[in-house]
Amino acid sequence: MTFELPKLSYDYTALEPYIDAKTMEIHYTKHHQAYVDKLNAAVEKYPDLSGMTVEDLLKNIKTLAVDEKDRTAIQNTGGGHYNHSFFWEIMSPEKVLDSSLADSITETFLSVDEFKKKFTEAAVGRFGSGWAWLAKNAQGQLEIYSTANQDSPIMQGHTPIIGLDVWEHAYYLKYQNRRPEYIENWWKTIKFI
Ligand code: MN
Repeated sequence: MTFELPKLSYDYTALEPYIDAKTMEIHYTKHHQAYVDKLNAAVEKYPDLSGMTVEDLLKNIKTLAVDEKDRTAIQNTGGGHYNHSFFWEIMSPEKVLDSSLADSITETFLSVDEFKKKFTEAAVGRFGSGWAWLAKNAQGQLEIYSTANQDSPIMQGHTPIIGLDVWEHAYYLKYQNRRPEYIENWWKTIKFI
């Protein structure tokens, strides 16, 4: 399978003023594209992997029959491709509220505000580059945590529900070192809650 950049369902300007158009354009056309290109380069020497989706690659990352160097490359670039594809999907210029998600969040974290507070703590507290997640674990329970680099919840059998990119490339042009301000504004771009 040759991996490709997914189509965005909105313009680069659509998430202004919370996420600026220049950041969106560079993030999508440069950073995400680079993950896609490097993922293709990493898997092309293994014909056995050619039928696998990026989800399959990540779910089976520990047991893929590949060199260790390529395993690391597939983990990083496959995670980068998967996480960014997911990230573009959960943001929207318009809210598309999901009351059943809000109900499960309230059931687990007492309120949506309390959930946002805990998620924000995970995102602010991630040292260096990584992601914050709301994910459903194998038992079907909601969990908040962060991952380093481009590691993804699906590598541990979890289903991501909300994910936030806290690599500096996601916010530095507009927010510089102000990660908490980026996160506060990013909540306004999430379509579900
Ligand atoms: Mn990114």
